[in-house]
Amino acid sequence: MQTTLTLFDTVVSKPILPKVEKKKISKEVIKVGWSYSKMEMLKSCPRKYYYNYFGAGKRKAKEDTNKSEIAFLSKMSNIHTTVGTIVHESIAIFLRKRQKEEEWNFEQLKWLAEKKLNDTIDYTVKLKNGEETNNPFPLCPIKELFYNTSLKDEIIDFAKAKINISLEHFYNSEDYEKIRDNGFYIETIVESMAKFKLDNTNIDGVIDIAFEDDGKFHIVDWKTSHYEPEETSVQLLVYALWAIEKHGKEIDEINIYKAYLLDGKIEPLEFTQKHLDRAKAKIRQSVEEMTMLEQYGIDGIIEAFDCCDEPKVCKLCPFEKICKSSKIN
Ligand code: SF4
Repeated sequence: MQTTLTLFDTVVSKPILPKVEKKKISKEVIKVGWSYSKMEMLKSCPRKYYYNYFGAGKRKAKEDTNKSEIAFLSKMSNIHTTVGTIVHESIAIFLRKRQKEEEWNFEQLKWLAEKKLNDTIDYTVKLKNGEETNNPFPLCPIKELFYNTSLKDEIIDFAKAKINISLEHFYNSEDYEKIRDNGFYIETIVESMAKFKLDNTNIDGVIDIAFEDDGKFHIVDWKTSHYEPEETSVQLLVYALWAIEKHGKEIDEINIYKAYLLDGKIEPLEFTQKHLDRAKAKIRQSVEEMTMLEQYGIDGIIEAFDCCDEPKVCKLCPFEKICKSSKIN
């Protein structure tokens, strides 16, 4: 179990933060919400965190002259995230249909995912060409297609292969039998917000699927990447904290799993009270970090948010264009 935090190595120790009035950074007046994805974004690139949580918002960083472009880019997604979203949404719809006793077969599930992919691709191409885009559902343009960094056919082939194998495993793998079977029950929680408070902070997450079975409360997180050995997972421990806070479960009643759809495998996460305490400590430290940065973000002081400048991270970042041009100017 990892105990050392790296989040603060990259941000807190840097002495470049511009000065703001003391009263503005008082913890009493600044309240931040926390989520695992927010923490991970700050860890991977503070500048990206600024763009996403301040630059793109209407009420924060009001003086940022690039606001409309940042807001547009914040809706953009890379192809890997697009695939993950489509797989998650398609499985959620499939399970909700089951709950309404509308049984879908594999072809219907595959059709739905392909439609979502095609709609997203058409939408991106239209946006790129400046054409009218009248889609009733919110879609995220695909970065690689919008900026022509990958060919359309390559993107389609890559996405289709990954989506199809993930859905095929979801539909057929023995490891997921219990999950599919429990999808019938109306009590099963499918793709739902997990909200609770830690101290006075609102904690947010999204539960892919959670259900009661054999006297246990099972929480499953779908992964659209291959299996990666991990000693622990703050993300899953947050779900366990939610089950305790919101569903009154005891630790030994909770089972949490990562389901690796590309491999068709499921991996349980063993945890104890000690792991939960460490997760809480990590969240508290992360909240402190976010609180410290909040007023800089509200005031649009972008210099307080360092660029990671990691080519691998930047390649997938929707803000790459604006980020690079801000460094040139
Ligand atoms: S392009 Fe790179 S440095 Fe700039 S915001 Fe994105 S991840 Fe950060």
